[in-house]
Amino acid sequence: MLFSGNSNKSIYLDYAATTPVSERAFKAMRPYFSDVFYNPSSLHIPGQKAQGALDVARNSIADLIGADWKEVIFTASATESINLAIRGAVKASALKNPHIVTTNIEHSAVLTTCRELEKEGTEVTYIAVNKDGFVSSERVEEAIKENTVLVTIGYVNNEIGTVQPIAEIAEAIESYKLKAVSCKLVFHTDAVQAANYLDINVKNLGVDMMTLSSHKIYGPKGSALLYKKEGIDLVPVITGGDQERGYHSGTENIPAIVGFAEALKETGEIMEEESKKMRELQDFFITKVLNSISGVLLNGSRENRIPNNVNFCFEGKKSETLIPELDSYGIYASGGSACRARVPEPSHVIEAISRSTCAKSSLRFTLGRSTTQKDIEYTVNKIKSII
Ligand code: PLP
Repeated sequence: MLFSGNSNKSIYLDYAATTPVSERAFKAMRPYFSDVFYNPSSLHIPGQKAQGALDVARNSIADLIGADWKEVIFTASATESINLAIRGAVKASALKNPHIVTTNIEHSAVLTTCRELEKEGTEVTYIAVNKDGFVSSERVEEAIKENTVLVTIGYVNNEIGTVQPIAEIAEAIESYKLKAVSCKLVFHTDAVQAANYLDINVKNLGVDMMTLSSHKIYGPKGSALLYKKEGIDLVPVITGGDQERGYHSGTENIPAIVGFAEALKETGEIMEEESKKMRELQDFFITKVLNSISGVLLNGSRENRIPNNVNFCFEGKKSETLIPELDSYGIYASGGSACRARVPEPSHVIEAISRSTCAKSSLRFTLGRSTTQKDIEYTVNKIKSII
């Protein structure tokens, strides 16, 4: 049940921040909290039951993303997976002056990690995206140098929903590698916001590493993964008991991993239908707002964006005042990334698309499985009255 402030409505439009656990995922997880609570590293029979559940979940996820089971590393969050991919690749390169290529609109898990590494001598190129939030494969290729060890580019931007041409970028990187004399370059994509609606088959995408997070796809919090292609070198960030083949030590969260696997399966099964429904609602929302409220701009591309993302700039208004006003009507939206929602800073993503005057005046609405056209109509009416 959602908290609905003073309103008797509860319209959650922040599905990019997190999603509820689906019935199917919840049901699949339940036995692993109590009946099969064992440690999968224990060699006794009950422990091996837990290990069996972990193996089934890993195989299922590997199949769904076109990988081998050995290529799936479970972590506790996408932030951990991203740290493992970035820090692990830099360390594994053993170069004195490693270089990373990324963009200036990445999630803070990527940007903050890159900035930390800069303090330790890593060089980072932050490619500037265009006014719609896109980076081209040509710009990526231009940024690659002899000492580039990692390219990390998000598949879908969490604020404005832009879908990057990941397969094209992967092709450009591969062709660069064919020409290079010696090259340790690997390509990672943060696909956290893509998994509900887009192809996440690692072979189709051509990536070396990919991050996914369970709680963005109607699975539980506390489970995420890093796909790491066999043969790619990584130095672990978290060391200990050598779980996850040494890449992520710590007892695996079996209920969360089982729920993650079920949620990913379900997401794949309903992807087509959900994408169609979201696209219609998104189109309805954007058209209604742009046609009936003046001083509103759509941030990001209208066509090439994930179907559940809408991000508007309300010129002259402040998102930090709009959010509580919408709250009072039972509408829950966001000023941008959930991780930075409590930090009243201008959005780096909106600034990057040359809309600096909108950086503190934009709201993200992200739709989900329970969103209806009535919810959108109500939201548009309330936005109108607030504005
Ligand atoms: N990457 C993107 C694109 C995200 O949207 C998020 C969460 O908002 C993350 C990474 C971090 O995910 P997690 O909460 O699983 O650490």
